[in-house]
Amino acid sequence: MKPAKLESAKFLENYRVDKPDRFRLASVDCADTGKVDKDAAGAMLADEVKRLSDLQERLYANHRWAVLIVLQGMDAAGKDSVVAHVMSGVNPQGCDVHSFKAPNAEELDHDFLWRTTTRLPARGRIGIFNRSYYEDVLVVRVHPELLERQNIPRTLVGKHIWEERFQDIRAFERHLARSGTLVLKFFLHVSKEEQRRRFLDRLEQPAKRWKFSMDDVNERKRWDDYMAVYQDMIRATSRPTAPWYVVPADHKWFTRLVVATAVIEALESLDLSYPKIGTAGLKEMRKVRAALQAEAPRKGR
Ligand code: ATP
Ligand code: MG
Repeated sequence: MKPAKLESAKFLENYRVDKPDRFRLASVDCADTGKVDKDAAGAMLADEVKRLSDLQERLYANHRWAVLIVLQGMDAAGKDSVVAHVMSGVNPQGCDVHSFKAPNAEELDHDFLWRTTTRLPARGRIGIFNRSYYEDVLVVRVHPELLERQNIPRTLVGKHIWEERFQDIRAFERHLARSGTLVLKFFLHVSKEEQRRRFLDRLEQPAKRWKFSMDDVNERKRWDDYMAVYQDMIRATSRPTAPWYVVPADHKWFTRLVVATAVIEALESLDLSYPKIGTAGLKEMRKVRAALQAEAPRKGR
């Protein structure tokens, strides 16, 4: 049976933040499944993974555009699982995943956009940032001592620092868009209760214990602060050229479907035609083809 197709433009409007001034995180239902049932979603995702594979091949051949996918979310929101499932059909040669952890000494000696800039996708490629420069207006804002570690001249750290960083991020993303990088940002919005269940799962299942970290439990204690800074960040940085999608993340199968649909819609909006071969090139190819056909196949090869 062919999977039902989503009316993707309408479906995505529910998750893309098109009116950032009015955006309120508390209005988003983390358990929303967009009236899609789980079995249907599995079939739709399988179909989308195939489409994405075809689109990525075109993106690569076309060699003009790059795609940057930014994934943000609280611990256990499902960022890794999005990478694993949504990108499962994509040729690894055309895709790079970078996970950004706490910055090292060299990274702290540069401006906050430096380390991610060196990892931006080249034309024809899809780059995924698992966490990103947005950590510098999230975890760093929740823990001001991290800002202190960044060694910024004191006169430059004032009460407007977060608004200044938002400005810089907006300008940076606009610059990327103008240079041919499609920027898509996903906040995987998991509920506090679902995070509790996932942490318990990590503790109880031997195969998942390695994922458990005491730091995650400490960050969980600051839940409300995180929600406040996430909301502020989304309001300040969701723009038509680099929109945020706030994706309900209590059901992983639904999270994957929203992300895959958004990436496909964005890729389909580009004209990803294969490079055209001119008349002279075609003539040359006909000659080569005839020569190859004329070669007698050798025995035993
Ligand atoms: P998981 O969901 O499996 O826990 P993770 O992405 O949280 O994966 P971790 O190994 O926990 O991976 O490390 C990421 C940690 O690094 C996060 O707590 C994040 O806030 C922190 N981090 C990332 N960027 C920065 C930054 N610029 N400054 C300070 N901390 C940062
Ligand atoms: Mg973590």
